Amino acid sequence: MANNEDLFKQIISHAKEYGYIFPSSEIYDGLSAVYDYAQYGVELKNNIKQYWWKSMVQMHENIVGIDSAIFMHPSIWKASGHVDAFNDPLIDNKDSKKRYRADVLIEDHIAKIEEKIEKEVEKARKKFNPFDEVLFRETNGRVKEYTEKKAGIERRFAQMMTDNDLAGLKTLIEELGIVCPVSGSRNWTDVRQFNLMFSTKIGSLSDGADTIYLRPETAQGIFVNFLNVYKTGRVKVPFGIAQIGKAFRNEIVARQFIFRMREFEQMEMQFFVRPGEELKWFNYWKEERMKWHLSLGMEPRDYRFHDHDKLAHYANAATDIEFMFPFGFKELEGIHSRTDYDLKQHEQYSGKKLRYFDPETNETYIPYVVETSIGVDRMFLAVFSHAYAMEKLEDGSERTVLRLPARLAPVKVAVLPLVRKDNLPEKGREIMDMLKPNFLCQYDDKDAIGRRYRRQDAIGTPWCVTIDNQTLEDNTVTLRERDSMQQERVPAAQLNTIIAVKL
Ligand code: ATP
Repeated sequence: MANNEDLFKQIISHAKEYGYIFPSSEIYDGLSAVYDYAQYGVELKNNIKQYWWKSMVQMHENIVGIDSAIFMHPSIWKASGHVDAFNDPLIDNKDSKKRYRADVLIEDHIAKIEEKIEKEVEKARKKFNPFDEVLFRETNGRVKEYTEKKAGIERRFAQMMTDNDLAGLKTLIEELGIVCPVSGSRNWTDVRQFNLMFSTKIGSLSDGADTIYLRPETAQGIFVNFLNVYKTGRVKVPFGIAQIGKAFRNEIVARQFIFRMREFEQMEMQFFVRPGEELKWFNYWKEERMKWHLSLGMEPRDYRFHDHDKLAHYANAATDIEFMFPFGFKELEGIHSRTDYDLKQHEQYSGKKLRYFDPETNETYIPYVVETSIGVDRMFLAVFSHAYAMEKLEDGSERTVLRLPARLAPVKVAVLPLVRKDNLPEKGREIMDMLKPNFLCQYDDKDAIGRRYRRQDAIGTPWCVTIDNQTLEDNTVTLRERDSMQQERVPAAQLNTIIAVKL
């Protein structure tokens, strides 16, 4: 059994070898934390976006979509707080010259203590089975010691982050004896703030206001269009505006493949509600979004909520939906109750009233906002890593299979004539032409049929249609299912219906 690190490496190389993801600019040795989606990757990514869009916009009558520009007026990022406060604390190791996020170094240290606690608990579970876990956590000396230590660090760390206490973060790193994973040394620089926005110049603005930013989130494009949508969209509070688009962040430490990239895509929805009703809607969206993930057939045990104890100054509730990536539970989606902060800020900076007249209460107010925000690429990684499996088959051979949810799979059907003669290719082409207006199909008549099945398993094709001599006699084909590998004989003429029903 591969360990998690090996498994993650296998997943990354599978993504490249089977045409899902290529490193950007590879012939020039790549560009750090930037990736290109390849022929199957783009299909999977589009299917994820479409699945999200349909469930948010098409299935909710009170949500509409927009597609705002990446470039926006620079004042927007002043108003949103990104110019002044969209920072990460960075620290360099003087020996390895490697750069880290100070907060991540501390978080990783806390995670290690957590691991130690879990190991003790696991040992006890094996020894005294069944045992009272709560009592054990309270009474076992080592577990208590680790738990108290962890709580102490967390308390100090949270305070330092709130106070923007960079010197404190450095002291904490030193006190905890955190070493650079590359050099192994504790020779750290001071901690500095680093703004994550990419800036560039635009020619047409006057007064020197020519520095514009590549948006670090799509949400602001929604806020600044709130009034336009309200005036033209015949929408009534509560209503939502959804958007899918690129975002850019100059991440200090961009590792972990497509989990943390400098250019990525977000699927965001801002839900405008009556003031005072935001927590009701926050809980609604928390549940709805979890249902969305599980509706794809993902495992409930791979998901958990991480409710934020420490809230951003503009939020009155926040949670992350975390997913069990090959490198542990990490944020996949954020759900935030952002109060009326953003619209208020834009009112102040633009001088335009961003208010809603509520015909039911006869009141005019700035709506409160509940946001759901998920990274397309992180969702891609969640789906892809969940789907990847190496299997031993009954005959002793092995196969690599991508058990992608069928509706997200890039190729839905492979059409495979058993041999390249006896009119089977012609029949295959006929079936291909019948299916391809409805599903993305792939025709393949090279190599032995077993190898072709393996190839389709490796790219995650849910169904293979095999054409043999019997097809020419009675117009039936074998339909092979990817996960069970079971085959059934079905009439070729019914394939469109059978596959549509399965999907
Ligand atoms: P993290 O704490 O992991 O940096 P974040 O809290 O900054 O994430 P948000 O600003 O809430 O993330 O962004 C919403 C979503 O956008 C995240 O849940 C994630 O799915 C995605 N996302 C954010 N930054 C990146 C990135 N650099 N690469 C890929 N996806 C990202």
